[in-house]
Amino acid sequence: MKTPRSTPEITLVGAGLAGSLLAIFLARRGHRVTLLERRPDPRKGSLTPQAGRSINLALANRGIAALEEVGVMEHLRSSLIPMAGRMLHDEEGRLKLVPYGNKPHEVIYSVSRADLNALLRDAAEATGCVSIRFGETVTGVDFARRRVLPQNTRYEVLIGTDGSASAIRAAVLDRTGGRFDEEPLGHGYKELTIPAADGGGFRMEKNALHIWPRGEYMLIALPNIDGSFTVTLFLPNRGDESFEALTTPEAVRGLFERRFADAIPLMPQLVEDFFGNPTGHLETIRCAPWSFEDHALVLGDAAHAIVPFHGQGMNAAFEDCSAFDLCLENPDRPWNEIFADFEKRRRPNTDAIADMALENYVEMRSTVREPKFQLKKDLSFRLEERHPGRFIPRYSMVMFHTIPYAEAKRRGAIQEVILDELTSGAATVDEVDLARADRLIAERLGTIAGP
Ligand SMILES: Cc1cc2nc3c(=O)[nH]c(=O)nc-3n(C[C@H](O)[C@H](O)[C@H](O)COP(=O)(O)OP(=O)(O)OC[C@H]3O[C@@H](n4cnc5c(N)ncnc54)[C@H](O)[C@@H]3O)c2cc1C
Repeated sequence: MKTPRSTPEITLVGAGLAGSLLAIFLARRGHRVTLLERRPDPRKGSLTPQAGRSINLALANRGIAALEEVGVMEHLRSSLIPMAGRMLHDEEGRLKLVPYGNKPHEVIYSVSRADLNALLRDAAEATGCVSIRFGETVTGVDFARRRVLPQNTRYEVLIGTDGSASAIRAAVLDRTGGRFDEEPLGHGYKELTIPAADGGGFRMEKNALHIWPRGEYMLIALPNIDGSFTVTLFLPNRGDESFEALTTPEAVRGLFERRFADAIPLMPQLVEDFFGNPTGHLETIRCAPWSFEDHALVLGDAAHAIVPFHGQGMNAAFEDCSAFDLCLENPDRPWNEIFADFEKRRRPNTDAIADMALENYVEMRSTVREPKFQLKKDLSFRLEERHPGRFIPRYSMVMFHTIPYAEAKRRGAIQEVILDELTSGAATVDEVDLARADRLIAERLGTIAGP
């Protein structure tokens, strides 16, 4: 079996977010890396965003930790917009800011996907060990001859970072007879725009993630550094209020007039954007195994695509890169063991974030409007202050810590029961029996398990 020391060259398929970051980690370990990327080099042509891909993303602690490890975070800071909480827009146009965290530094950041990807690719190339071959679409793998197809490029070790429709995953599952589970959400999304104000200002609060929660569906908006907002409409695919039903400009305007009236004056291009932009689909992908012998591994969305409602897909993919790097610490370890170790460490966590991301859709589009949600949130913050390091709201564990996702999910479930018990019959935090809260926490919440 080949080991990292005896195999200096690694072929990565997909120079997206995970592939570009992983290339930097691998280069730091002394590997030469070739990245095959199907898209053209954006530095040599128009910079139009890829149809159906989110234009901006929420970056949180896990992603930041991985970017810091390879030293690119300092180059990114000036392009980030902090978002301190959710700005809720109700149907009357009233606004309410619900902070994400309990401490001033507990914010998430809006970042442009294109800028972040470009920064990572440049940093990868700057290592001198990474070459990116743009305009090369991989369609399959000939494992017997250790070649990627159709290029016939020989690989020594192959890693698929080719996203949710991964060709490398298909090849690995085909070769291993593995399991593939694709769970469509039944809801899709459409990207729209709120342009900058005249002079480049923001037309809504800049430091927030705006949400128009409407029960079965929602609209959200994240700020961009040019003063605009990227708006995303999440809607069922079928039904009375669905993408299927929005076939005319009147229908689109009608939905917005009924449910998102305060957004209409901010969106002069609403109808053009709606019919000009594709409708994206949303799904959760679970598959096993993630690797084939010492040949190939998949990582990032290729291994575990999730729905975007916790803003964690990219963050989880970045955490994958850092976790994979840890698996390379012993240079004498064979690649099949490295791949198996990576999957063993990561799968429980990526399964957990897949579940939490699905749950968060209900929270964002519906629960967030309920007084009980606010009460539990206030109480969570109070309990976090009383029991630092022991009671941490689940959202905070996921977004502001690097506590393993599976541990965050496990503790979150216990905490939810405690919160339900304590808030039963209470309307405000002052009515909650905090001595009982202390007892329940001492009884049920142990210390936090590490990775
Ligand atoms: C609407 C939406 C909003 C989101 N918001 C957030 C957010 O706020 N925060 C967050 O953390 N995550 C978010 N995500 C998730 C995030 O986009 C993904 O998790 C992340 O892009 C995964 O990175 P990746 O490198 O694994 O895949 P990708 O970013 O998809 O990169 C895959 C790369 O591989 C290339 N490629 C694909 N197939 C081939 C092939 N056959 N041959 C060669 N190259 C190929 C592609 O061109 C691409 O460059 C969101 C996703 C969506 C859909």
